[in-house]
Amino acid sequence: MVMAVEDSVVRVVVRVRPPTLRELESQRQPVVQVVDERVLVFDPEEPDGSFPGLKWGSTHDGPKKKGKDLTFVFDRVFGEAATQQDVFQHTTHSILDSFLQGYNCSVFAYGATGAGKTHTMLGREGDPGIMYLTTMELYRRLEARQEEKQFEVLISYQEPASAEQLLEMLTRGNRNRKQHPTDANATSSRSHAIFQVFVKQQDRVPGLTQALQVAKMSLIDLAGSERASSTQAKGERLREGANINRSLLALINVLNALADAKGRKSHVPYRDSKLTRLLKDSIGGNCRTVMIAAISPSSLAYEDTYNTLKYADRAKEI
Ligand code: ADP
Ligand code: MG
Repeated sequence: MVMAVEDSVVRVVVRVRPPTLRELESQRQPVVQVVDERVLVFDPEEPDGSFPGLKWGSTHDGPKKKGKDLTFVFDRVFGEAATQQDVFQHTTHSILDSFLQGYNCSVFAYGATGAGKTHTMLGREGDPGIMYLTTMELYRRLEARQEEKQFEVLISYQEPASAEQLLEMLTRGNRNRKQHPTDANATSSRSHAIFQVFVKQQDRVPGLTQALQVAKMSLIDLAGSERASSTQAKGERLREGANINRSLLALINVLNALADAKGRKSHVPYRDSKLTRLLKDSIGGNCRTVMIAAISPSSLAYEDTYNTLKYADRAKEI
């Protein structure tokens, strides 16, 4: 059976990380209020003052707090208490079925520097993120199908520093499993960490021509979006400024084009960067995509959070 995937090509979720010590010490009110598992309010009129153990003094209110009181609805909203498991369960876990049926999938962590992208994707020893949890669950599922299918898994990770750490974690969790880590030295996009899992499956049916199925899952910890936050207007093509990360802009342009193109044919500029060329067969069209927008709850990150939420909201249209 082939599942229809057209109706939900991109799933957009938001994760609000806990405040850092610096944010707590800043004595400002949080600017994000998680209402329920799908709704959040940005810059609420009446903040619920949810930073624990802190009494809010209105005199400390930052100049940036404006009371925009914007309500956003996403496929899922994770508050600061959400665990790595919670995030995994409602992001890649739900697309693993499609992946095993042969659909390419991609998961992006989008957000400003310090918003929690790397924590979500890579995590840390003892509290691993989506890259690790997804790979482990994938191995579990493949093992369960071993009777019917013969499979091969290939893992690629581009961004040398954290690759080692992740591959080490995976190796420890997979002592007896066959895997081929490659590409750890690739330099295509230094500022993005791109983890890709390729799965090749073949039915174990003797005497028949065996259909070979290959699918790719890309898990991406993007460069900080503050580099590209200047303008994100609909349909507008973003220009590259001095410090702006070219490939992140290219990705934004691709996602914008896909959103504009929904339901009709139009040019999608996949060729504009190495990142988007690498992901050409993994976003849009017949692929499953999850965008995880990472945000800080603090007014210190007011503009970044606002831009990230606007962008995530826009991505829902794809
Ligand atoms: P980014 O990759 O977006 O720049 P990080 O993932 O490095 O941000 O997060 C910034 C800091 O906040 C790190 O010290 C990280 O450990 C911490 N952090 C982020 N998200 C969480 C979370 N959900 N729970 C606890 N700490 C977090
Ligand atoms: Mg990071």
